[in-house]
Amino acid sequence: MGTIITDTKLEVIGEKVNNGIRLTIEDGLYLFESPDLLGIAQLANQVNQKKNGDNVYFIENMYINPTNVCEANCGFCGFKRKPGDEGAYTMDSDALLEYVEKRWNDNIREFHIVGGHNHEVPFDYYLNTIRTLKKHYPNVTVKAYTGAEIEFFSRISGLTMKEVLEELIKAGLDTLPGGGAEILTERYRLKMSLIKRLLING
Ligand code: SF4
Repeated sequence: MGTIITDTKLEVIGEKVNNGIRLTIEDGLYLFESPDLLGIAQLANQVNQKKNGDNVYFIENMYINPTNVCEANCGFCGFKRKPGDEGAYTMDSDALLEYVEKRWNDNIREFHIVGGHNHEVPFDYYLNTIRTLKKHYPNVTVKAYTGAEIEFFSRISGLTMKEVLEELIKAGLDTLPGGGAEILTERYRLKMSLIKRLLING
């Protein structure tokens, strides 16, 4: 099936993609502004198919949610618990290691960690989660805490977000997961919660 591009300004970029010519910064900026998302997706897929064919690459990770206690009230969330609620939990180091040991296999290359904004424990708890994992699994990448959690840590610790990130890196953080930063804007967070509520309630 041929590529269907509705934004005629994208055609020049499409030509370059077809001919394997490197895009310029200006082309990149235009891709960001163009409303033709499907056209861009098809061009991106063309490049991907050319480079990788039908091969798909992935790594095996282990997902860990050290606590489900959370001070936030996102309307779409079925995960959070208030302190003392039935099912509320906060793993200490032993529980964390037990959780990992039970699920461990030698192909795992990353710990992916997100959880509630638990204000019942200090910032050091979150640092210690990373320290514990790094101590016992030094070769596994720790991808932990979204942008929303970084903002939360800054509030509970009194540190700036930069200082929070520095402390996390010192503890062994390698990278952040992508989710969460989009809800740092109160206006957008509210919008997302309202839309989800409307969808759920019909
Ligand atoms: S911050 Fe996360 S855990 Fe807390 S209510 Fe929102 S989605 Fe749920």
